Formats: sequence, C-alpha cells, structure tokens
Amino acid sequence: MKAIAAYKYYDAETLQEACATLNQYAGKAQVLGGGTDLIDWMKRRFMPTPDILVNIKKIPGLSGIKEEGGALKIGATTTLTDIIENSTVQSKYKALADAAMKGPAPPIRNMATIAGNLCQHVRCWYYRWPDWYCYRKGGPICFAPAGRNIAHAIMEQKVCNAVVASDPATALAAMNASVTVQGTGGTREVAVKDLYVVLGTILKPDEIITTVTVPEAPSKQAFLKSRVRNAVDFALVSAAAATTSKGTTVALGGVAPILVAGSPDDVNAAIGKAAPLSENKYKVSVAKAMVKRVTA
Ligand SMILES: Cc1cc2nc3c(=O)[nH]c(=O)nc-3n(C[C@H](O)[C@H](O)[C@H](O)COP(=O)(O)OP(=O)(O)OC[C@H]3O[C@@H](n4cnc5c(N)ncnc54)[C@H](O)[C@@H]3O)c2cc1C
Ligand code: SF4
Repeated sequence: MKAIAAYKYYDAETLQEACATLNQYAGKAQVLGGGTDLIDWMKRRFMPTPDILVNIKKIPGLSGIKEEGGALKIGATTTLTDIIENSTVQSKYKALADAAMKGPAPPIRNMATIAGNLCQHVRCWYYRWPDWYCYRKGGPICFAPAGRNIAHAIMEQKVCNAVVASDPATALAAMNASVTVQGTGGTREVAVKDLYVVLGTILKPDEIITTVTVPEAPSKQAFLKSRVRNAVDFALVSAAAATTSKGTTVALGGVAPILVAGSPDDVNAAIGKAAPLSENKYKVSVAKAMVKRVTA
C-alpha cells in the first residue's frame, strides 16, 4: 500500500462552516467521520485523493441518541458501538442494534459513525482496485457481469452491479427511518430507502447527514444477515422487517445498488423479477428465505 497523497485537513466547528468548506472545494472535499472507510480508500488510491478532509466530529450536538416526540434521533457522528450499547436502542429498536452488531469488528465499530456507515463506498472488488476504471469511477464498463460476481447485485442493476454495503441501512429502511441532510442551501429530509441511487447516494457535494430519525418504535422487528464468515464479513444478503402503525415494511441489503424496501408482497415481487449474474443465483433463494424468516 502506498502512502496517502498530500491533502488539507479542516476541523469544522459548526455545520455552516463545514458545508461552506465542502461547497468551496466543489466535489474535491470529503466529510471525515470515523475515517474507517475514507482513510482506507485514500491509502489504496482507488479514488482520487480529496483536496481536503472536513472533520465534523468536533461540531457540538452532532453526536448522541435521544427519544423526542416518540421518535428516535441519532446524531450523525454517533458511533456504531454507542448505538449497540444504548439501552433504548437495545430495548425498542433491536433490529438496528443487531445490524450494527453484525457489522464490522469492535475496533472499527468504536470509530465508525452511523452517517459514515450509511455513506461508505461499495465493496465491489473491481471498484476497490486502482487500475479498474469502471462506470462507478466514471469509466466505460462494469467488470462484474463477465468477471467474478458472487457477491454482486441480483436486481436494480442498470449500469452498476455493486450492492449497498451498510447493514444498519437495511434495518433503518425497514423502520421507515429518514436522514436530515444539511447543505449550504438549507436542510432536507430523505428516507433512508431513497438515500442510494445507482452510482452512489443522493447527497450533493456540499451536503452532510446530520441526524438519523426513526419515527416510531416498531412493535415487531427482526434483522438477519447471511455472510461467508459469521465472525465478521459484509452481507451477501441482509433482511430486516419492522411492524409499526403504518404496517410491515421489509428491506433487503446486499442484493442491489439501492435498497429494496416495501411491503412483504412488494419485496417478494421484486425478488421474483431478479436477474442474477453468472455466480450469484443463490442470492434469490437466500433472499426469499430471509424475507419469510424476518416476517414470521
Ligand atoms: C474490515 C471491515 C469490515 C466491515 N464490515 C462491515 C459490515 O459487515 N457491515 C457494515 O455495515 N459495514 C462494515 N464495514 C464498514 C464500516 O462500517 C464503515 O467503514 C464505517 O461505518 C464508516 O464510518 P466512518 O464514520 O468511519 O466513515 P468515514 O470513513 O469517515 O466516511 C465514509 C464516507 O462517508 C462520508 N461521510 C461520513 N460522514 C458523513 C456525513 N455525516 N454526511 C455525509 N457524508 C459523510 C465520507 O465523506 C466518506 O465518503 C466494515 C469495514 C471494515 C474496514
Ligand atoms: S459493479 Fe459497479 S463498482 Fe463494480 S465494476 Fe461494475 S460498475 Fe464498478
């Protein structure tokens, strides 16, 4: 691994300052959360080194977990460990605690922030290698269909076959959670299930996730994850279900570049239309079985 190329570093003290700096560097700046994904890809140099990292962890009020008006509010820089250990999350939002727990190993969970987890880059092995210039990097091709694709998408592929890597995203989508996004032009609320688009997230270069909101504690919930190594590994397929006053929502991770979420019937219908690649037909039956189990 090469040394990281030179970059500037800025400790933002307010959200306005952070957004203004991101705006000034117009796409050549990156928000720094725990750095467990960002610093890794800067070292591996599979993406251009940002001109500047904007650290948001010193901004007052961005970390912490509280219940407010029946909703759970999680600050963007709250770590996965804080989420796992929080008694309210454990007792009322267990699917989220389980998803964070079944995510990365403890040393990474201690540093990784919930917003950084949602915004982490995909784990496609072609993408994470400097010499493979694929669609997601602005190149002319996706290498997965004709290459190794055991961990890739079975639906919603369009141009890219990589999958959403965040386990908490699957649980949060099932819980109808949203993120508050702040930019230089103001704030907006985005459903977690709509955060991902085919080649990344809906975030603009000057935008920061500030809060994750779960609107209601589910009366019933479950999270399941299938992976190669049970001790620690990214999901081959993850599934979550949550029942609230609005009904039951199911979400699937590890199957598409976006989150697949909706009623159990909608999600089963989406699985029925799956278009697996040469090595990943097994994901269709795993997804079907997991939907059955999380909704049982
Ligand atoms: C060995 C290993 C195994 C792992 N296994 C799993 C797993 O099984 N399941 C899983 O879910 N994850 C897994 N992860 C990923 C890990 O959870 C992420 O690296 C971590 O959550 C990223 O959080 P961070 O705060 O360190 O983000 P950073 O590395 O700081 O940032 C990641 C990205 O998010 C952006 N970002 C950060 N904060 C914000 C914000 N507030 N608003 C907008 N953009 C932001 C950054 O600019 C960057 O692009 C694994 C990681 C490793 C290294
Ligand atoms: S699956 Fe996506 S990230 Fe992977 S090679 Fe294809 S375009 Fe690139």
